[in-house]
Amino acid sequence: MRAVDIIAKKRDRQELTSEELKFFVDGYTRGDIPDYQASAWCMAVLLNGMTEAEATALTLHMAHSGDTLDLHQIAPFVVDKHSTGGVGDKTTLVVAPLVACHGLPVGKMSGRGLGFSGGTIDKLESIRGFNVSLTTEQFMDMLAKHGIVVSGQSADLAPADGKFYALRDVTATVESLPLIAASVMSKKIAAGADAIVLDVKVGQGAFMKTVEEAEALAQLMVKIGQGVGRKVAAVLTDMNQPLGAAVGNALEVRETIETLRGGGPADFRAHCLTIGGKMIELAGKADNLAEAERMLAESLDNGRAWAKFVEWITAQGGDSSQLEDPNTLPLASLIETVQAPQSGTIAAVDAAAVGKTSVDLGGGRAKKGDPIDYAVGIMCHAKIGMRLAAGDPLFTIHANAQDKLESARQRLLTAVTWSEMPVTAPPHTLKIIE
Ligand code: URA
Repeated sequence: MRAVDIIAKKRDRQELTSEELKFFVDGYTRGDIPDYQASAWCMAVLLNGMTEAEATALTLHMAHSGDTLDLHQIAPFVVDKHSTGGVGDKTTLVVAPLVACHGLPVGKMSGRGLGFSGGTIDKLESIRGFNVSLTTEQFMDMLAKHGIVVSGQSADLAPADGKFYALRDVTATVESLPLIAASVMSKKIAAGADAIVLDVKVGQGAFMKTVEEAEALAQLMVKIGQGVGRKVAAVLTDMNQPLGAAVGNALEVRETIETLRGGGPADFRAHCLTIGGKMIELAGKADNLAEAERMLAESLDNGRAWAKFVEWITAQGGDSSQLEDPNTLPLASLIETVQAPQSGTIAAVDAAAVGKTSVDLGGGRAKKGDPIDYAVGIMCHAKIGMRLAAGDPLFTIHANAQDKLESARQRLLTAVTWSEMPVTAPPHTLKIIE
């Protein structure tokens, strides 16, 4: 078998066999197939798609490219969640300790920033000392001792996804339904959780722009997960504006801290309760979602989730003094507010444009392995449906270079759509598939 023939077959819209997919995944993971061939293959998949059989086989080969964990020696039931990628999506940072503080172990493998969407691992690394590169033993040990662990892709767990993910980020091959499904589900299968809640983002600030596309992705991922004996639910959630206010790594950690202390933006808190609530419900710790959400809201307000967060971050090597005093997290040197140029009602905030602005400020990568500036990003003050007067704050830009601040300002001003009429904010949860 030759990689070039497999690329040509996909280019010519033919269905790849499971053996061909295994050859490609294993060859790329080992380093026998170079980045340029893997890039061409990813682009062919993006343009020509995959059948369900191909996507399922790809997922399973990627899941088995390293260890697959059996967590039952540690805990009878472990839960996990995963987002398909949004803007301002710091949900894991809140939901993992929120669910774990109810005695439900959370074992999770997360990713770095991808395209215009941020990544949990980059956000966590803005905390001094936090270790995202865990060996299988360390992963299991954290789960056993603390009932919570979040690690990045490693040489041990789904290494194929680690390589494809970084490559897709910089080759414009993120927005492919089968590649997203395989990337998400390979990590989930390898990390061994019994129940998985998928947060499938829909809209301008998501990789899936329409409900139909998002539903197709959700159905495929649920089917793949259930096919290997996991409980899976997918929640379709709106991403037509950034989630919460903060976009950018350290800024999102600050907003996480506020939320875990009972505050934070209302839309973000509600979102965390839904995703966390679904995890609690799948695990059978509540009879329905409403009851699960009530349990979790209490833990946000009474400090229980916050205490678990501090325990978790400290156990993975993070400096807890930065959590107690968020002003010691990375802070940009230039902080400037963009004011509303007119009065009116906010009809839309282009979340993808906000995400790209954050990447351009240095919060994401242009090339594989680029360093990240944890301090930069944007605070979004305007939400769909809000009525603003000219001069009201729209965004606050956190930058470390004057030229980048200027371009961010120009771009953000065009990210807002105004209306003279009242506008209703879109519902946050669009659909639940299980
Ligand atoms: N999250 C992932 O883990 N992979 C993707 O491809 C998109 C979102």
